[in-house]
Amino acid sequence: MELPDGAPPEVSLPLPERGAELAPQAAAEGLVAGVVVSRSAGFYWVQLAGGQLRLCQLRGRLRAGDSVLVGDRVWVRPTPDGRGVIEQVGRRTSQLRRPPVANVSLAVAVMALAQPEPDLELLDRLLAAAQAAGLQAVVCWNKADLVPAEQARRLVELYRQAGYEALATSALTGFGVPELRQRLAGHISTLCGPSGVGKSALVNALCPDAGQATGEVSPRLGRGRHTTRTVRLLPLAGGGWVADTPGFSRLELAELAPRDLSRLMPDIARQARECRFGADCLHVAEPHCAVREAVSRGSLAESRYRSYRKLLRELQELEASRYG
Ligand code: GDP
Ligand code: ZN
Repeated sequence: MELPDGAPPEVSLPLPERGAELAPQAAAEGLVAGVVVSRSAGFYWVQLAGGQLRLCQLRGRLRAGDSVLVGDRVWVRPTPDGRGVIEQVGRRTSQLRRPPVANVSLAVAVMALAQPEPDLELLDRLLAAAQAAGLQAVVCWNKADLVPAEQARRLVELYRQAGYEALATSALTGFGVPELRQRLAGHISTLCGPSGVGKSALVNALCPDAGQATGEVSPRLGRGRHTTRTVRLLPLAGGGWVADTPGFSRLELAELAPRDLSRLMPDIARQARECRFGADCLHVAEPHCAVREAVSRGSLAESRYRSYRKLLRELQELEASRYG
């Protein structure tokens, strides 16, 4: 994600995101564009265009609730003491609940090739959830140092065939980390996946000097002695930010109607378009369903179809319990 180059509209106004025509006005008013990278006890660290970090507080009318989140594009009025006041907030393109970050545009679904053993069903779930949330998704097979290259290649290939971008990494040796970093350039990203797969290790590998890069809110500035930090965005060398708190482990698929599930799995969706039973087919029971035939032919991975069936059953049960 780039820093905003136009003054963003007020939070509630349905104006275009980049009101370039407003930029001269904002500049004339002495406002500087930036992105909120961390927040704590009423203080916000904003990374300004150019990279400088500034500790900011909110203009009074912005103080209600979550009107400003980490990830928000903001316009800041610098104050003579070296701090600033957040005057305006750009319209959000997305909002994750956990961690609470605005404008995330890419999710990295991390799995270990070993230790722990891959959980393909969970991976497929995360990928569907990312798509449901409108995020781009990248599959990251970590711990490549622990398995033969052929094994890593097979799993990377499985997901490329399914229609995803996929790569293998080792947070331990650095293998694949530059490629991952390059893919994250220009985005606010979050890593997701089960515990132990190396998400924290990857964040450290992606942002080796993260500790110094974004300031913590100094205890002197916060109220009380203990300032609890929430999520931070760490700047990536190639541009963009990655959230230091992995997120997205619980699914937001609950609201989904069962028949809409296939749209969230690109390989299933591709076959479903060929299905003679049309939009009503759930691709489970009908003998000549194109999706089932693709599985028998071997052009749709069995593991992906299994995940589809499992998720479908869950959504059907949820639906039944809502209307039953
Ligand atoms: P998280 O729970 O997903 O954040 O996982 P961590 O980053 O805490 O890593 C879990 C364990 O796996 C730690 O002991 C790491 O040192 C180890 N680990 C992480 N990445 C790799 C890797 O690429 N290769 C190997 N061999 N170990 C790794
Ligand atoms: Zn079908």
